[in-house]
Amino acid sequence: MIDVYLNKCDNYEKSVEKLVKMLEPYKGKFEKGDKVLLKPNLLSPKEVEKAVTTHPKIVEAIILFLLDLDVEIYLGDSPATGTALQGVKANGIYDVCQKYDIPIVELDDPVEVDGENYKKIKISRKVLDADKIINIAKLKTHSQMILTMGIKNTFGCVVGKEKSSWHLKARTNTNFANVIIDIHNIVKPTITVLDGIEGMEGNGPANGKQKHFGVIGISENAYALDHAVAKKLNVKEKYAYILNESMRRKLIPEYKINGDWEGGKIKLPITAPIFETFTNLSRAVQRVPEINVDKCISCRICENSCPAGAITIDNHSIDYDKCIRCYVCHEVCPEDAIDLKRKIFK
Ligand code: SF4
Ligand code: SF4
Repeated sequence: MIDVYLNKCDNYEKSVEKLVKMLEPYKGKFEKGDKVLLKPNLLSPKEVEKAVTTHPKIVEAIILFLLDLDVEIYLGDSPATGTALQGVKANGIYDVCQKYDIPIVELDDPVEVDGENYKKIKISRKVLDADKIINIAKLKTHSQMILTMGIKNTFGCVVGKEKSSWHLKARTNTNFANVIIDIHNIVKPTITVLDGIEGMEGNGPANGKQKHFGVIGISENAYALDHAVAKKLNVKEKYAYILNESMRRKLIPEYKINGDWEGGKIKLPITAPIFETFTNLSRAVQRVPEINVDKCISCRICENSCPAGAITIDNHSIDYDKCIRCYVCHEVCPEDAIDLKRKIFK
């Protein structure tokens, strides 16, 4: 039986002491001299107050726990936009790493690895070279996958633009969920920690609405952890693609929830398949991205990130015949200038 710990924590000031204690049962998983990679969520260079990226206090607690174990620590990510260094400088993890002399690395240098369903996935050598990985996820909604927690966080171990290409190769949400699961099974984190004190609801993972969940989660198994959190938030597996596919692939183990977090509510993205039925009307109503010309600063990040080449910023248009509804544009836009709207297609 896998243990999942979900403890109430009202603010980040209290989180360091609390998380160091929560990590105690996992001491035995680390050996002296291990190279331990810390993999936070550094999606894009955003200030910590925006609740887009893992909070520095959560990272600090994990470093303090590891310092006692005489291991070699480094921290890295391959964010959707910008670099890991830009990400940590924007949110404050950089200062924590400086304080404890922890190297920050870009997860580059690709090595092709085969997953169970998808082959030749370019994973960073710095991930494959680690003896142990601590996956440090953030609790948020996700416009394409509906929820993002521990399983999804290891997608950041795929090098740079390769991430975007998997949207196009997968094409459907179900396939993309299976890509993410294949990658998670390659990365196999030793433990997953979930920063759910401040998270996001609505149209996450970057431009949703900040939400106080007040929870820190931890487990050696991210499938158990994510499933337990979704259950506490009353989100059924069928509405969250990764959990649904994890169930189908029988990857969610039997687990026991420990801790004092009672759970709560979460507003899912407009893209959640809650109202899907097999009627012609529901098939005709699709959720599409639309550029808000008043907010757009023509930085072209969306145009350069769109895996389908569907965006032309010169005239602020999106070709819906090419668009695969991956919502990467919405995720990467630094100005929140991509709206998600329901549109009827004939
Ligand atoms: S990323 Fe946002 S601000 Fe930049 S060009 Fe696209 S819509 Fe405009
Ligand atoms: S326009 Fe946006 S949603 Fe459509 S394919 Fe491009 S990035 Fe994905």
